[in-house]
Amino acid sequence: MSHIDTKCVQAGWTPKNGEPRVLPIYQSTTFKYDSAKMLGDLFDLNASGHFYTRLSNPTLEAVENKIAALESGVGAMLTSSGQAATMSAILTICRAGDNVISTSEIYGGTYNLFNITLRQLGIDVTFISNDTPADEIRTLVKPNTKAIFGETLSNPSLRVADLEKLAAVAHENNIPLIIDNTFPTPINCRPIEFGADIVIHSTSKYMDGHAVALGGAVVDSGRFDWKASGKFPMLSEPDESYHGTVFTEQFGNAAFIAKARCHIMRDCGMQQSPQNAFLLNLGLETLALRMERHSQNGLSMAKYLSQHEKVAWVDYPGLESSRDYELARRYLGGKCSGVVSFGVKGGKAEAAKLMEALKLTALVIHVADVRTSALHPASTTHRQLTDAQLEEAGVKPEMIRLSVGIENIEDIKADFEQALAQI
Ligand SMILES: *Cc1c(COP(=O)(O)O)cnc(C)c1O
Repeated sequence: MSHIDTKCVQAGWTPKNGEPRVLPIYQSTTFKYDSAKMLGDLFDLNASGHFYTRLSNPTLEAVENKIAALESGVGAMLTSSGQAATMSAILTICRAGDNVISTSEIYGGTYNLFNITLRQLGIDVTFISNDTPADEIRTLVKPNTKAIFGETLSNPSLRVADLEKLAAVAHENNIPLIIDNTFPTPINCRPIEFGADIVIHSTSKYMDGHAVALGGAVVDSGRFDWKASGKFPMLSEPDESYHGTVFTEQFGNAAFIAKARCHIMRDCGMQQSPQNAFLLNLGLETLALRMERHSQNGLSMAKYLSQHEKVAWVDYPGLESSRDYELARRYLGGKCSGVVSFGVKGGKAEAAKLMEALKLTALVIHVADVRTSALHPASTTHRQLTDAQLEEAGVKPEMIRLSVGIENIEDIKADFEQALAQI
């Protein structure tokens, strides 16, 4: 099973003789054992098996193994949401007094988590830009810096992170690179191949693809040497949270994902439900096909809009005019998924008018699913802000974020053609 589209369909669940062909939903919080000794071995991490769904469950395990296979990691952990995935990855290796360096071109929810919530917990975050040169990032790494964080293709600004640059600075300093790979999905980019050590997903977007199941995932590349680094005693020294377990000794190169599950998931309980994992798996089965169409349709719409007389500008890293075109070629193979930003001439009022004129394209607070949708931040999510404040927040008043679905491209274009004719 060497090709990624085959893994989407087949990895994770391999039924034995007479077992269900399709991954079943193990809708059970608990599991039965015949002996106390077996349960004891499970608790002591000396045997593998499921005993309580907050820690693990067969449905979740199959989907975790599929996602690990797609990202070429040694293991993965599903979480209740993308936010929970980021939080558990950080909590696995950071404590109060530590520092994380992150690009500021990231999802708004993650920005708030880093800028407010982590600071309140005593974890300091230093923000850099995607354009910050490696030498400048080097000067920002402090003895207490425990990770560098970025988004492969950022939501909503559509910047492409220079993964090799960030990985080089992280590894020179013996710290891991954590990458949120939600928008590209492993179909368009596998960050581990470019040096990422931990990969995060909001599976609520393209991975689910149908906008039915909130979820997240953390993937461990197995490539970071936590012991040699010397900066992660929680992994390389006896862990008081798990009766003296030394995770690097017991789990080898899967120490990070074992700690994430045995400690952080156990204590914080942001587990995905078996039902959602089942729905996520249905989405993953068609991910390769859908991403191909999303990327094709995204590029098509970006080209169409950039040639339209009523459109002022288009931002899509797959366009040659994009500042990140070269990075998108290097890391995404030129396949930039289905999210496109653009601005119409005439500013905020004309943009709001266009939104109302769209028919096939739905107005929703979501991106990255099979149905084409659009959002005008200035009249919705950012409507309290004045034009000046909008500019400051990097949201142009006329900006529309379009999430191109997998419908026939001619129907999507026709919808924009009729709507643009009305403004
Ligand atoms: C949506 C999103 C998240 C948060 O995921 P939820 O599943 O909504 O918690 C994180 N990162 C990116 C890039 C996202 O688009």
